[in-house]
Amino acid sequence: MRTYVLMTVIDGPEQPDILHADLDAFYASVEQRDNPALRGIPVAVGGGIVLAASYEAKALGVKTPMNEGEARRRCPHLKVVAPRMQAYADASRAVFDIFHDVSPVVEGLSIDEAFIDVSGLRRLVGPARQIAEELRRRVLDEVGLAVTVGGASTKFLAKVASAAGKPDGLLLVEPGRELEFLHPLPVEALWGVGPKTAERLHERGLYTVAEVAALDRAQLVAMVGQGAGGHLHALAHNQDPRHVVVGRRNRSIGSQRSFPRGRCGRADVEAMLLDTCDRVGRRLRQSNQVARTVTLRLRFGDFKQATRATTFPQATQHTNAIHEAAAELLNTVWPLAEERGLTKVGVAVSNLDPDDAVQMALPLFAPDSQPLDAAVDHIRESFGHRSISRAATLAHISDHVQVVPGSIT
Ligand SMILES: [Mg+2]
Repeated sequence: MRTYVLMTVIDGPEQPDILHADLDAFYASVEQRDNPALRGIPVAVGGGIVLAASYEAKALGVKTPMNEGEARRRCPHLKVVAPRMQAYADASRAVFDIFHDVSPVVEGLSIDEAFIDVSGLRRLVGPARQIAEELRRRVLDEVGLAVTVGGASTKFLAKVASAAGKPDGLLLVEPGRELEFLHPLPVEALWGVGPKTAERLHERGLYTVAEVAALDRAQLVAMVGQGAGGHLHALAHNQDPRHVVVGRRNRSIGSQRSFPRGRCGRADVEAMLLDTCDRVGRRLRQSNQVARTVTLRLRFGDFKQATRATTFPQATQHTNAIHEAAAELLNTVWPLAEERGLTKVGVAVSNLDPDDAVQMALPLFAPDSQPLDAAVDHIRESFGHRSISRAATLAHISDHVQVVPGSIT
């Protein structure tokens, strides 16, 4: 794992507000994670067209999208594997669950990248650097993938920073020093500068962002047109007023815990399951939603996963109902878990609806739990997730279990 911090160590009060997290060579990395024979060699995912290339393949000139024949000419030992979209969707969901655990303000850009606003977390959790390091560690430990994180004062520059930090890096741009970082970069680093615009800029002798920034707006507009000129002028001065926008409502809410293989017995796993259901239930209530489906996700020592789900006849938002369903699912897969060695337990709820639009399942699931949930939520809002624990979880959440210290509670 590499960590870069631009120019000075950022530990003082000045910290970037926006992170851009981007998984490295995503599809290819999932394939290398799941099949040890693919590690360390050039791998392409696709068939006909290369959808993703491992870093070993990229180093030999394999790009996306490129047709397979061309890729094989450049890299005769290239191993081409067929895409497994379900595996990528599962990995993406697990990674986004971690993003959402780290900050409530997450804007997904695609299956493998997101902006994360950490400006509100400084007092509660810590500075951006600490959050970014935690996020990278968790994605590696819990999902088995490398994610590069860039951080800056604007969305645009955070994305530039993550691109510059790849692979498996962390690059934070210290506030006040943005232009020192940005100006030496090639014009292609500016958002929206594709090969055509780059060529037009090169024709005018403009190769670096500094050279673009030295022109005034009108000169740029004359060169590349009204829209593009204004856009280039703003970005070259790191002007990007866009906020991180929480996207459409999540289609699921999940949380997970990971631990070393063979370290947890059934009682430990059950305690973690209860704790995980607690977190999920709380986030569900915070988002004013109810759920109909509960999914249990397990990961084994070989990174293979098992998923089991159950759907209620009526929606709920109670921790007890979620936990009962998850515990029953755990029962059905326990023999498999024992045989293969468990390394992660995760719970997610989906089939979400706003809680004001749905007749809730109160009679079905312990009506008494509603005031309890509300009281526990209130205490945790004030004092953090660990401020109150269920007695059943206390004995089992011990040191060897990776509790997530930086998560939003
Ligand atoms: Mg990526």
